[in-house]
Amino acid sequence: MAITRDQTLDWMRRFAGEMAEHRQELVALDTAIGDGDHGTNMNRGMTKALEKLDGAEQAASGAVLKTVAMALVSSVGGAAGPLYGTLFLQMGTALTGVQEVGLSAYATAWRKALQGVQARGKAEPGDKTMVDALIPAVEALESASDLNGGLRAAAQAAEEGMKATTPLIARKGRASYLGERSKDHQDPGATSTYYLFKSAAEALAD
Ligand SMILES: [Mg+2]
Repeated sequence: MAITRDQTLDWMRRFAGEMAEHRQELVALDTAIGDGDHGTNMNRGMTKALEKLDGAEQAASGAVLKTVAMALVSSVGGAAGPLYGTLFLQMGTALTGVQEVGLSAYATAWRKALQGVQARGKAEPGDKTMVDALIPAVEALESASDLNGGLRAAAQAAEEGMKATTPLIARKGRASYLGERSKDHQDPGATSTYYLFKSAAEALAD
């Protein structure tokens, strides 16, 4: 089984839908430990990304993801635009020229995305960032034996990673200014990353 361009488009539509549906939740999480803009930013960015996708010929999954990356970088400020922009750009670049996006190519693309996000944000595991959802999800994909099961496992791992950010003290981003007071709050970036994997698993399952 291989991931088609239409499934990648479906993934992006589903992710945009999650960002619209959970905008208030993400705003509330970011208001507790940041500046409260995460839900609004991600919703605006993904709305812009869908507009760009509608207007462009997307030959393949790699091109779809690069278009989304450019839309996010140009429309979302703060940390989320550059970080998610990097994630999609690295994935899109890794998948460019890949005719059949099977499990191995897909897991490699996610690893590149993770490396890009870490290179840009300098976050390590346990810093209470999106990386805490991203790492276990990518590892789940890498140890999977099929795409469908791998993405379901990745979504579950991302959810567990997201929940595990709650007791952490933030060491990166605006939340780190709060020190101890950043405890007992789920990280908004890890939360949007969980929705990214959830929508990927759903796009592949249908
Ligand atoms: Mg923010």
